[in-house]
Amino acid sequence: MSAPEIHVEFAPELALFIPQGRRLGATPVTTDGTSSLGHVVESLGVPLTEVGTLRVNGREVPRSYVPSAGDTVDVLPVARPQQVPGAPLRFLLDVHLGTLARRLRLLGVDTAYESTDIGDPALATRSATEKRVMLSRDRGLLHRRELWAGAFVYSTRPEDQLRDILDRFRPELRPWTRCTACNGLLREATKEQVADRLEHGTERSYDVFAQCEDCGRPYWKGAHHEQLEAIVANALAEASRPTPPAAPPRRS
Ligand SMILES: [Zn+2]
Repeated sequence: MSAPEIHVEFAPELALFIPQGRRLGATPVTTDGTSSLGHVVESLGVPLTEVGTLRVNGREVPRSYVPSAGDTVDVLPVARPQQVPGAPLRFLLDVHLGTLARRLRLLGVDTAYESTDIGDPALATRSATEKRVMLSRDRGLLHRRELWAGAFVYSTRPEDQLRDILDRFRPELRPWTRCTACNGLLREATKEQVADRLEHGTERSYDVFAQCEDCGRPYWKGAHHEQLEAIVANALAEASRPTPPAAPPRRS
């Protein structure tokens, strides 16, 4: 039997993963007649973490579907908000996403972050062990089978990254409850409790304190507070918007 040719069309949201020549319209793809559609899509460069519904000739199929000659395939992006069943929603960020990690923690979202490059296998293992959604801009990492779950971070700008992740996963926000340095939980503290960890000027000027239960770092309403307040206010405003209805099927 000769290799079947199928036609694959990607939703615009997925176009950035596709080499230039494949972006417009349905692209002819020659398959081997045994690989699953999920494998075919991945081999074209699209991480499966970003793929939602697959349709063949207008009918939804599982990723295990083996395409046959003449099939027309539509590849849709992952639905939003995205559900990640099986564990409380929590994240693991790679070494390049430090600012996003601190902002998620500021909002009270459980966010592990590796500040050194521990390598893709170790990251994938940690994602699996702790059931954390791996956030990365590294497609190779997102292709790894061991991942508990993963998501591509589309922007290089922290503001856009934060907006995108909050829109995609809609995590519960509990601002000012986590340590931005280590992800530990904060508890209220008196000035006396944290006095030995404060600069002299801080001790004199401020008196609203909290302390990280894990690393002991003190928190107070300090110099950068307005900027942090703005990040929190923006996130809460976006989160209170109603979820838009699911987009209608683009075409049959
Ligand atoms: Zn801490």
